[in-house]
Amino acid sequence: MVTSITPYRDELGVSDGRMLIGGQWSAAASGATWTHVHPATGEQVAAFPVAGPADVDRAVRAARRAFDEGPWPRMRAGERGKILRAIADLARAHGEELVKVQALDNSVPLSFAEIYVTSGEFVADVFEHHAGWTDKLAGETLPPFQGGDHLVFTLREPVGVVGAVIPWNAPLMLLAQKVAPALAAGCTIVLKPSEYATFAVLRLAGLMMEAGLPEGVFNVVTGPGDPTGDALVNHPMVDKLSFTGSRAVGEKIMAAAAHGCKRVSLELGGKSPAVVFADADVGTAAATTMGTVTLGLSGQVCVAQTRALVHREALEEFLATSQMIASMVSYGNPFDPEVTSAPLINPRQLDRVLGLITRGQEEGATLVFGGTREEGDLATGNFVAPALFTDVSNEMAIAREEIFGPVLSVISFDDEDEALRVANDTQYGLGATVWTSDIRRAMRMTKAIRAGTIGINGYQVEPNSPFGGFRSSGMGREGGRAAVEGYTELKTVLLPLTDEMM
Ligand code: NAD
Repeated sequence: MVTSITPYRDELGVSDGRMLIGGQWSAAASGATWTHVHPATGEQVAAFPVAGPADVDRAVRAARRAFDEGPWPRMRAGERGKILRAIADLARAHGEELVKVQALDNSVPLSFAEIYVTSGEFVADVFEHHAGWTDKLAGETLPPFQGGDHLVFTLREPVGVVGAVIPWNAPLMLLAQKVAPALAAGCTIVLKPSEYATFAVLRLAGLMMEAGLPEGVFNVVTGPGDPTGDALVNHPMVDKLSFTGSRAVGEKIMAAAAHGCKRVSLELGGKSPAVVFADADVGTAAATTMGTVTLGLSGQVCVAQTRALVHREALEEFLATSQMIASMVSYGNPFDPEVTSAPLINPRQLDRVLGLITRGQEEGATLVFGGTREEGDLATGNFVAPALFTDVSNEMAIAREEIFGPVLSVISFDDEDEALRVANDTQYGLGATVWTSDIRRAMRMTKAIRAGTIGINGYQVEPNSPFGGFRSSGMGREGGRAAVEGYTELKTVLLPLTDEMM
């Protein structure tokens, strides 16, 4: 039996939640709630409101008022920066508590929450980084094209009310990546977390209010896609939709944005390749690649390197190291320091992953190890033994679809051209890694691979660098200047300087 998470829930004071609308903690008008079931133990954690259209309308109107009439977009830029820094300080001070609440949501093991991107430190750094942008968002002065004595310049203004929707896998980090740049730009926000990861978001929202955000600037509506998300993305008073999640839902968000021409940015899924050449440090390449699909979130990571393209000469070492990493995986209660990896988030995802593993076998790939549901003591959770396929062709479903589970598909290649062709033969384009000791080859591949982020002999996400996808992996970027500018409109100002031009 996986030990109970209930004592941790009680110690953390997580109980039935409320959502944040116009600075007040509210229940749903209908009284509807959703009870969160822990993915490792099957225990009920607590309930939170399911916001219906009336609740979402109240939240959007609060954000609208805060934008149209409130102090936030009008405040001195430096003052906004101070509040963002105060959020960073509180997130840092409460980092440990936040990641523990997150473990009640999605069962990311605490051992993994010490890794930078899933830590409270990362959340704090994202807010701190964007605090610095509040007084640096500038337009430009342009030479008058037709001559004459007039001034032409641009202003960057906040886009308005943002409707943000995030998934369950890294709720704290993903909240920060959306909300910090939007706040820095002077926007107001209604955020909908995933129904599978709500409590850490509510805890962080409380800290954000404590930091001094004026009421209505940041609102949280809780509940599933239908009805809550749907009501938010179709609300006519929202100016921009900012979505992170699956491609299927992303397409719906884009269609919703078409009504009224809302601005939209999308951070979607991936099928990222790790391209491993024979001259690489193959052990490190294998450990890192297999690590992205097994440790921590068990492959439930948008930028997991789920297609390993391995030079035939490196295959044996790659497989041996991958098997060694898989054998290190330990499942169980996320608060147990020995536990390395999370269960799948819900039974639906468990069925989907097992279905794709069966399909891989039916299509002729060789399942070298893993791929079955963990039974016995682990039967309370949605655990799947880490799996590795060889003899994979890039046409198979396991090479084309985002599995979002602990499954690595290994495709062998003979030369660089073949590796590049396979790497780019995907509808996605979120990330890639290239493993080689030849810098010229690394740069050739980096320039030719169609993906938003390329790691050379390693991979990490930084709070100040742009992150996002080519093709079906999304549009727009989070992190750094591109993210903040994505929450602005550009206004051109024409100022005649002579009487004749007036
Ligand atoms: P999902 O698309 O099922 O859900 C994401 C969010 O959308 C949830 O909050 C959900 O309630 C909401 N939603 C669902 N239907 C909706 C609708 N019709 N209208 C409005 N909102 C709706 O994704 P998930 O299972 O929570 O997360 C996994 C996916 O997220 C994967 O595809 C992964 O690659 C992607 N992801 C991408 C990034 C990135 O930065 N590119 C980061 C993390 C996760």
